[in-house]
Amino acid sequence: MLNKKVADLLNDQINKELYSAYLYLDMSNYFERRGLNGFANWYMIQAQEERDHAMLFYRYMQNNDCPVTLDAIAKPDKVFKKDMDVLKAGLEHEEYVTASIHTIYDAANKVKDFRTMQFLDWFVKEQGEEETNARDMISKMELFGSDPRSLYMLNQELAARAYSAPSLVLD
Ligand code: MG
Repeated sequence: MLNKKVADLLNDQINKELYSAYLYLDMSNYFERRGLNGFANWYMIQAQEERDHAMLFYRYMQNNDCPVTLDAIAKPDKVFKKDMDVLKAGLEHEEYVTASIHTIYDAANKVKDFRTMQFLDWFVKEQGEEETNARDMISKMELFGSDPRSLYMLNQELAARAYSAPSLVLD
């Protein structure tokens, strides 16, 4: 049986990952309306990844015989006035999720829950990649976003992103 605090944090993380999926779906929605289908694709794949993350936390809890409580998912309430607002909100959100994962890790560490720490290792690495991706998006937009021709090419590049399932698999 998992420690109560660790279990509660893991349970909350299911909701946070689903909220992340919802937030990225809203970002995809913003770019669909802008007519930037490549950006919309990129954020749609982000949303799919976040749903996968939620399922990994769900499966981990089930595998450890830990009761799961599903709560309401908050409405994505960020207001995007321009493209860069979306990109910056993406980075800010990933930094928030990183802090959340680290909080669970810290709680697991305190009670010597090595199994949960090992499970979370994948997410610690994943968050590093997510933050890098978010920063790269901002850099590219700063470099190319103000010129329509370059924005078109950047949009084409982002249209090529394909979904792939997470490398972490829980039976
Ligand atoms: Mg995630």
